[in-house]
Amino acid sequence: MKAEIIAVGTEILLGDILNTNAQYLALQLAELGIDVHYQTVVGDNPQRLENTIFHAFSRANVIITTGGLGPTEDDLTKETGAKYFEEELVLDERALKRIENYFNKVGRQMTENNRKQAFVPKNSKVLYNDNGTAPGIIIEKNNKILVMLPGPPKETIPMFEKQVKPFLAQKQEYTFVSRVLRIAGVGESAMETMVKDLIDSQTNPTIAPYAKDSESLLRITAKAKDNKQAEELITPVAEEMYRRFGHNIYGEGETNMQTVVSELLIKKQKTIATAESCTGGAIASALVEYAGISSVFLDGCVTYSNASKQHRLGVKSETLQKYGAVSAETAKEMAEGAAKTAGTNIGLSTTGVAGPDGGTEQKPVGLVYIGLTIDGVTKTKECHFVGNREKIRVRTVHTALDWLRRELLK
Ligand code: ATP
Repeated sequence: MKAEIIAVGTEILLGDILNTNAQYLALQLAELGIDVHYQTVVGDNPQRLENTIFHAFSRANVIITTGGLGPTEDDLTKETGAKYFEEELVLDERALKRIENYFNKVGRQMTENNRKQAFVPKNSKVLYNDNGTAPGIIIEKNNKILVMLPGPPKETIPMFEKQVKPFLAQKQEYTFVSRVLRIAGVGESAMETMVKDLIDSQTNPTIAPYAKDSESLLRITAKAKDNKQAEELITPVAEEMYRRFGHNIYGEGETNMQTVVSELLIKKQKTIATAESCTGGAIASALVEYAGISSVFLDGCVTYSNASKQHRLGVKSETLQKYGAVSAETAKEMAEGAAKTAGTNIGLSTTGVAGPDGGTEQKPVGLVYIGLTIDGVTKTKECHFVGNREKIRVRTVHTALDWLRRELLK
């Protein structure tokens, strides 16, 4: 199957809204193993929409549109799709009932043009909408499939997930299953070198390395008759990755560093306090993303000035004078001060030059010290990050949490 994605809407064309539906659908289709060669955005113009659909069908056999299913005059996707398949629009009683119920539920008056949404092309499959009024539609004829979905992502996504994905999956002879290993502390090119022999020799599963924010990802994708067979193909390759990368693999699939660290802190029953300068509370903020962190995360200080480092954490003025705020010595006293004042097992601190100004020859932009004390033993780490202020801060958070993770695994 070859698919195309068409987003309908002048707002998208003008840049008023971002075409997130296309991104979502592209990821989903890739997961189903369906190739997407083109994505198009077209405004609410009947002639151009018609041309786009006709053109897309000249080179693909599955077209997925989003948007233009609304009640107004300029919502014409359904009409254009019906025209391509030479089907007339007929009233679908069930869709009408659901639209009436929807308006009753939200307490709004249904207008005459809302009835328009209950008209569907004859011989089509109606995708009832649990989150809005416009039903989606699938028309399948002469080896061509047109899937028309509403525009709002809160309607598009559940409709695709529940109704379109199973429909497309059963058309596919094979299933594609992916496992994503998340790697910290190894850059993308180093990671690629470490698995190059496998990438070159494997065809099923395939191995794809890529970088995202501060981490590197390895996606292992198997093409198989069913999920069980896919897992059998993936498991030995994943095991080999664990042999090669060890603790550099911090998690799999839909997780992130703060989740993994939070789970470890809770599992090991280690309480923590943070003392942040250049990250300005971002480590604390990352930790509190995790529901349930309150049992271990007791205190977070943002000590941006020298005075607050002294008053709140007990950093000595001699230390600040002798070594400066951005120094291993200050990072150490910050971490120890945080743990001491909060009475926690762990203190984690950051102090650095995030830029763009403030760098010197001895202390350039990107120089960051992280302090970590665990049950009375304190260590510091000197890091040199590249990138703009935001990247330096993000990398500091990721590196600090990753370091804590590795120490907790010891
Ligand atoms: P409705 O079901 O609300 O009548 P519709 O199918 O007619 O919707 P549009 O009117 O084209 O859809 O779009 C409605 C809203 O959905 C837009 O204002 C926008 O917020 C969102 N939307 C539409 N298309 C996209 C897209 N491709 N990506 C992200 N959001 C979108």
